[in-house]
Amino acid sequence: MKTNHIENYEVWFVTGSQHLYGKETLKQVDLDSETIAKGLNASDKIPVKVVFKPVVTTSDEIYKICEEANLSKNCIGLICWMHTFSPAKMWIGGLSILNKPLLHLHTQFNRDIPWNDIDMDFMNLNQSAHGGREFGFICTRLGINRKVVVGHWKDENVRKKVGIWARAALGLHESKGLKICRFGDNMREVAVTEGDKVEAQKVLGWQINYHGVGELVASIDSISESDVEDVFNLYKKEYSINTLDFNSIKYQARIELGIKAFLDNHNYKAFTTNFEDLHGLKQLPGLASQRLMEQGYGFGAEGDWKQSALVRIMKVMGQGLKGGCSFMEDYTYHLDPKQSSVLSAHMLEICPSIASEKPKIEVHPLGIGGKDAPARFVFNVPEGRGINASLVDMGGRMRMIINPVDVIKPKPLPKLPVACALWIPEPNLETGAHAWILAGGAHHTSFSMALNTEYMEDFTEMTGLELIIIDKDTKIRELKKELRFNDLYYNYRK
Ligand code: MN
Repeated sequence: MKTNHIENYEVWFVTGSQHLYGKETLKQVDLDSETIAKGLNASDKIPVKVVFKPVVTTSDEIYKICEEANLSKNCIGLICWMHTFSPAKMWIGGLSILNKPLLHLHTQFNRDIPWNDIDMDFMNLNQSAHGGREFGFICTRLGINRKVVVGHWKDENVRKKVGIWARAALGLHESKGLKICRFGDNMREVAVTEGDKVEAQKVLGWQINYHGVGELVASIDSISESDVEDVFNLYKKEYSINTLDFNSIKYQARIELGIKAFLDNHNYKAFTTNFEDLHGLKQLPGLASQRLMEQGYGFGAEGDWKQSALVRIMKVMGQGLKGGCSFMEDYTYHLDPKQSSVLSAHMLEICPSIASEKPKIEVHPLGIGGKDAPARFVFNVPEGRGINASLVDMGGRMRMIINPVDVIKPKPLPKLPVACALWIPEPNLETGAHAWILAGGAHHTSFSMALNTEYMEDFTEMTGLELIIIDKDTKIRELKKELRFNDLYYNYRK
């Protein structure tokens, strides 16, 4: 997948202390901190470098490290640990300017209390239990969103949580520089694909730009026949070809190369198409969009730039993990009283990164759009856990809605030549869909089998986005209250 190199990124490990306990104690604090940073750095649960920074003991040192973190190109977040008590008024200046994500690791060097040997020196050296509370107070007083992780630093679950936060921080880093290309506008009359692009840029950093489809057609026409042949040969090698209509497939190869060249020329990492806006194209970009998603680009159909950006960001967050990520749409229900489920798909554009088997390339007519029969990938999605994420514009703020689902095995669908997935949303379809509709969730989502709710929770903390989670704990009455309370909160905060 085409993403930035994950190994280039760093989170800085910053330890707070003070001079009250003398030089010897501070020396030990420094050594212990370095050991913890190295331990975290060696963990396969944390995908980026954990860089040890010398212990900070004064307001000036704290301000300086926050300033350096802000300016560093590779630093995507700060892990702060209070080994001893670090008077938190010292942190006000630094935390007030910090613009990178913050994780408060509430741990201590030793796991167990050394019952027989513990004395006051040991207590003074190992006092995260109250040092961490002092730090927590000032973060809360300053209104700083952060992740708090509690437990011993060698514990695998603690490391897993740090790793999830680091991946969310990668997502934020991607978000802040993300450029999204809209080929054509969004679909006429549709509400949920609309949104305030200024608000999106302010909160998420997205540069969302329109290009007329004529510019895309020019790029597609400029692709050489031999380049098209090369990509077609690659298709033959990588996928099963289930048709003799090679020309239709080659046309999608040409679209793929044309879109890719255009995106790369302008540094776009995500794009949208719209079947109402295909002037000069012979087919709706089906296989082409699927292939580009597989290569890591974000995609949204019908001009849905919010979901396109989210697909890209979630692909970056999940890189190297098992399970893919795709643009998705809730399509039709199986309302069996024993077990209701949703069949999800799109007209064409589902990413093969979530395929359970080698994708088949087929060509079939498409009733919508009035163009030639488009080539597309057809495949199923494996059983397992996934999440749906949807971003909607509530007017003045964006809301993220997350719903975990269990993908189950569908019956054969011989007359449905698209990639699709059958799933049961949490807690079940009746409550899950009810809650989704009350929350205003879109029919378009970004669907990931690599990430879970916690990744998106961390991402929304970092961005300040509103988050509605629909899962096994969801009760409709409580959700209604949450939505109303959130309206008050976000209107108050404006
Ligand atoms: Mn759609």
